[in-house]
Amino acid sequence: MPQNKLSKENARLCPVSRKCGGCQLMNLSYEEQLKYKQAKVVKLLGSFHRVSPIIGMNEPFHYRNKVQAAFGRTRGGEIISGVYQSSTHNIVKTDSCLIEDKKADEIILTIRKLIKSFKLTVYDEKNSRGFLRHVLVKRGFQTNEIMVVLVTGTSVFPSKNDFVKELLRLHPEITTIVQNINNKFTSMVLGDKETVLFGKGYIEDVLCGCRFRISPKSFYQINPIQTEVLYSKAVEFANLSCKERVIDAYCGIGTIGIVASKGAGEVIGCELNSDAVRDAKVNAKINDIENIRFFCADAGEFMLGMKENGEKCDVLFMDPPRAGSDKKFLSSAVALSPEKIVYISCNPETQQRDLFYLIKNGYKVKKIQPVDMFPYTNHVETVVLLERTVDN
Ligand code: SAH
Repeated sequence: MPQNKLSKENARLCPVSRKCGGCQLMNLSYEEQLKYKQAKVVKLLGSFHRVSPIIGMNEPFHYRNKVQAAFGRTRGGEIISGVYQSSTHNIVKTDSCLIEDKKADEIILTIRKLIKSFKLTVYDEKNSRGFLRHVLVKRGFQTNEIMVVLVTGTSVFPSKNDFVKELLRLHPEITTIVQNINNKFTSMVLGDKETVLFGKGYIEDVLCGCRFRISPKSFYQINPIQTEVLYSKAVEFANLSCKERVIDAYCGIGTIGIVASKGAGEVIGCELNSDAVRDAKVNAKINDIENIRFFCADAGEFMLGMKENGEKCDVLFMDPPRAGSDKKFLSSAVALSPEKIVYISCNPETQQRDLFYLIKNGYKVKKIQPVDMFPYTNHVETVVLLERTVDN
């Protein structure tokens, strides 16, 4: 493959790559990116075990199922939408993006035009005035359901019905529209209050044969194609035999636990975000799964409670955020002494730290599988299988 040509083409394909900063590896061909990520994982985790070759994508473009655009004005007064320039709140105007879902980008462009034709205002962070702040679009790649979230600085929505009607006329593929009100001085995109303007207020998608409900706020993996690869590896590593008591820690909307539940005796999911836990419970119902329960708690506190109650755990799936896990969680995990721990991580640096702890306390790394969930960025996801070395 003419890699260098490809890489030059990429640079040309994205005129804002320098300003945006989202795709740190834009100057590398995809093959070079995979090599770079493999080397990064080998450097950090290679001393624990041999690292299997990274699983990349066949088509590493337009994989993001969730697209967010900030709205604002240029100094000259033109309404623009796009991404924040890295570490600033300056909006880099973007019409399309190599890694974002194409349909989502089209919808955002339409909204930019509608804002002008409806003479609506955009939010100005400097004086906290104005209407539209952000637009968030999520698409279920398998179901093709599309959610549009209009994040507004005020709850008043001038010409609301006509706006919604026109957006639906131009994009009949949209299945739900939500207004989210965020009038706070914050860099968080979504506020607390929500009004459903059209449809159900959520979308559903299918992963590994299971259906999942995704609401505006809940965490859902942004690359569904590679998520299937990742979850399949995680469940394969657990090698369940329909008897085990499984914990899915940091479970989000319950995806890993639900996919694993078919092969397990019982699954217990734990997650801090209450919206996600509500979705997880619904997801278990949608999929007719009866051997799973979800709890809203800090994962460390939850594991400590399990340990103090003398509960049992055979297999622990853990998928913490970038900061990794904490001592409370890890020490309780060791005390619960599951036979297997499947550690999924989006940050091999904190994973390395946590693996050192688990290895010191009776576990051995048996498999390491990197998966490329975020082509063109420098992020890499890894699944690690650990097994208890001493018998209870
Ligand atoms: N396993 C899920 C989510 C992984 S992302 C999936 O694959 O979709 C990490 C999750 O950990 C997020 O849902 C976040 O809300 C949750 N989280 C962050 N800190 C937490 C904590 N201290 N205790 C429990 N959950 C936490």
